[in-house]
Amino acid sequence: NLSDKLDKAFHILKGHGKITEVNVADTLKEVRRALLDADVNFKIAKDFTAKVKEKAIGQDVLTTLQPGQLLVKLVKDELTELMGGDVAGINLSGTPTVILMSGLQGSGKTTFSGKLANFLKTKKNKKPLLVACDIYRPAAINQLHVVGDQIGVEVYSEPENKNPVEIAQNAIKHAKANGFNVVIVDTAGRLAVDQEMMDEIARVHKAIQPQETLFVVDSMTGQDAVNTAKAFNDILNFDGVILTKLDGDTRGGAALSIKSIVNKPIKFVGTGEKMEAIDVFYPERMAERILGMGDVVSLVERAQEQFDEEEARKLQKKIAKNEFGFDDFLTQIQQVKKMGNMKDLVGMIPGASKAMKDVEIEDDAFKHIEAIIHSMTPIERSKPAIIDVKRKARIAKGSGTKVEQVNQLMKQFDQMSKMMKMMQGPGGKNLMKMMGG
Ligand code: GDP
Ligand code: MG
Repeated sequence: NLSDKLDKAFHILKGHGKITEVNVADTLKEVRRALLDADVNFKIAKDFTAKVKEKAIGQDVLTTLQPGQLLVKLVKDELTELMGGDVAGINLSGTPTVILMSGLQGSGKTTFSGKLANFLKTKKNKKPLLVACDIYRPAAINQLHVVGDQIGVEVYSEPENKNPVEIAQNAIKHAKANGFNVVIVDTAGRLAVDQEMMDEIARVHKAIQPQETLFVVDSMTGQDAVNTAKAFNDILNFDGVILTKLDGDTRGGAALSIKSIVNKPIKFVGTGEKMEAIDVFYPERMAERILGMGDVVSLVERAQEQFDEEEARKLQKKIAKNEFGFDDFLTQIQQVKKMGNMKDLVGMIPGASKAMKDVEIEDDAFKHIEAIIHSMTPIERSKPAIIDVKRKARIAKGSGTKVEQVNQLMKQFDQMSKMMKMMQGPGGKNLMKMMGG
């Protein structure tokens, strides 16, 4: 599946001691291949990777500390954008609101009609009416009645009438007369797109002028889903897409293409046969699902770990040789910062954890510390002992801080170096691990 493919695409990051040297172009080539394998339209996959590449290079991904994570984020953001960015709502204007279902046979129209009626009834306090316009199979009318009974929603049907346009119009009259404020019209589908079906749904659509025309599509049908969506959209100019059967292990490659081919939002997803198995479509969550985000992120993290271990080894040597300086301190801050583990670092600076107990720790919590270190010369950083009063004043001025702040940092650094020296030998390894994240 797509997740495995992307795993492979990001595999390139693993085993690189220095992931700063990752080859973005090669990785994206793999991403593109993964998208194509998941039935994403060729042009979309190509545009997609081109866009990510452009952004990655624009952000100087090759020199950042974590190109891997940045790349994953860029891919995810771009996927989210591709699927519509924001959550698309459903238009509930009109008295009553008329909602028309369209799609192939077996896509899940009848099931989704019931789910949507249940959703609107329980979550939006609406009084919906279900309408059976699938006049070809007696079982279809029955199926909708079963669904209606299950959720306690009335079903309008005319078993003897073979004209779906009339049934739909009569149902709306019935709704108006009986205080229903939403009318959900379930229609007949065919196994494949054919003229008769298209003509029929077009006639119903024209006659009832729905506020929402929804196209229901089985997410397991891959590239076919895109072609079907296009055919229905050409006729109906529908308002939104419903992706059903997302409960299996389908990664939903189709979702990627549909939005950009027909330029209509995906509004809901079906995640099971039960009436409660309906979810509002969140583009970001879908992007994570397609990426198998958990897997990809953990892969990047593993690559990150290797990097950290190497750094930790170097650091250990330095401490042993009494060469630990402010540059190393800075590296440690940056390591912890990029791991998002600010509290851990604060906890390791004696005194600081108490002082910052009630403070929200932000990304720039170490802004001053970093500024001070950046204002030191290389010699000062590697041999902090030479930093005298005069140098302290210069550093404070250069970093826009006060001499007291420089003093405080010097003290903290001193304590930290001593503590680290003490922790050498058995147990010291753990400290190094903690410091490396
Ligand atoms: P219709 O022909 O478009 O009306 O499709 P149906 O609503 O009759 O659904 C066809 C089949 O798909 C039925 O067996 C449904 O139970 C099943 N189905 C519909 N939606 C979902 C879903 O989200 N998940 C799963 N697993 N099955 C679904
Ligand atoms: Mg049906």
